[in-house]
Amino acid sequence: MDFAPTRAAALARLARFLPAAGRRYAETRNADNGPAAGGRGNVSQLSPWLHAGIIGEAEVLDAVLAAHGPRASEKFIAEVFWRIYFKGYLEQRPQIWADYVTGRDAALAATDANAGRRTAYARAIEGRTGIEAFDVWAHELVETGYLHNHARMWFASIWIFTLKLDWRLGADFFLRHLMDGDAASNTLSWRWVAGLHTKGKHYLARADNIARYTAARPGGALAAFGLAGDDTPPLTEPQDYPRAMPGLPGAVSASDLAQPFALLLHDEAAHHAPLGLPAEPALVIGAQRAEARSPGAIGAPLRVFAEGAVAHGMAEAAAAFGCAAMQWQPGAPLAPLLGAARVERIAVPYLPTGWTRDALWPELAPLAAQGRIITLLGELDRVTWPLAKAGFFPVGKAAGTLLAECGITGRA
Ligand SMILES: Cc1cc2nc3c(=O)[nH]c(=O)nc-3n(C[C@H](O)[C@H](O)[C@H](O)COP(=O)(O)OP(=O)(O)OC[C@H]3O[C@@H](n4cnc5c(N)ncnc54)[C@H](O)[C@@H]3O)c2cc1C
Repeated sequence: MDFAPTRAAALARLARFLPAAGRRYAETRNADNGPAAGGRGNVSQLSPWLHAGIIGEAEVLDAVLAAHGPRASEKFIAEVFWRIYFKGYLEQRPQIWADYVTGRDAALAATDANAGRRTAYARAIEGRTGIEAFDVWAHELVETGYLHNHARMWFASIWIFTLKLDWRLGADFFLRHLMDGDAASNTLSWRWVAGLHTKGKHYLARADNIARYTAARPGGALAAFGLAGDDTPPLTEPQDYPRAMPGLPGAVSASDLAQPFALLLHDEAAHHAPLGLPAEPALVIGAQRAEARSPGAIGAPLRVFAEGAVAHGMAEAAAAFGCAAMQWQPGAPLAPLLGAARVERIAVPYLPTGWTRDALWPELAPLAAQGRIITLLGELDRVTWPLAKAGFFPVGKAAGTLLAECGITGRA
């Protein structure tokens, strides 16, 4: 697998995947064919670039619509909308993320304090449980920084219901290693598997299903003996998460950016191209904070991707706009960077609930209070998030209308 953290690599991946994005995707996407070269032609593997904002959902959907039309690309479109839906859902219930962080830290401390828990946790993350499929995926995740969607579902299910480990430790393990590790998609998918997202509806991995959809892996189907039975109950939790829609920023026009401004590139918006800026910045500032995903160490493939993504993004933006680019180092104040470049305001791609926001907002908040921040939010997010109130269904049903509203027709 080749995951160069550049826009050129993202566009090349999209171009290579496009022929398979129609009916073929719908029919074959569930198979986990393994990481060997060429094995994964059935899915796009665009998630690291989408997560880093190196390529945008809008341009991906437009290209797929142009290649296949709305009917044949329905399934692929729906999957991309799952990403937008999860983001909108968490934005309306940020307490889920806050509780995840508190629960994760408590679970890590409890594991540290108990030898039995420590051993069980170490076996799981080191791929030494004796459940072949699970162990293969644990190694694959650490070594490649990516797992197929079906493998993520099976892995999370075995973690929760067979190994009976805390789901937040599993979500943390994913965040520490997935290049696409996303606070919304990851936390809410783990909660979905556990039966906490759709209350009472959990996902139980079955050995025959795993064997069927891993049959084309180079080593053959993966075995998974001794999994939790069909009568295993979902997890429950005492609290509900009431919904509150935050005020979303409107579209930014050239007049909003009339004075010299800086552009911030961060881990979820590492490239300027998908932002569609209506004016050119006088300075580019890069903030890479992948370490903020977890109190534990992050994996090497993720580190390389995250560092490269912001570094390449800064270099390409500086070249495109003919301006300087500077790194904003963790712990350093931001205001002096702006002062040195004589810019008052900074355009900040929306910081969604999660680790990117946790890492950057404390320093940005005082600037926001002074009216010095211009927030950039994509049109597709702005129109979709308000529909992410409960289940995915209303979002999936409205996908066609939402795309048309945003001018994403494949006919540009
Ligand atoms: C337990 C668990 C944890 C997950 N954690 C993450 C995560 O941290 N970050 C992440 O981006 N996705 C996560 N997913 C969703 C999904 O597994 C990945 O987005 C997908 O596997 C990425 O591979 P791809 O790009 O080849 O997907 P494709 O099948 O080619 O889909 C295209 C794009 O649609 C989006 N997408 C597809 N399926 C989903 C889905 N079920 N939910 C949300 N978005 C989706 C992704 O952006 C993806 O790149 C998780 C799923 C599970 C079950």
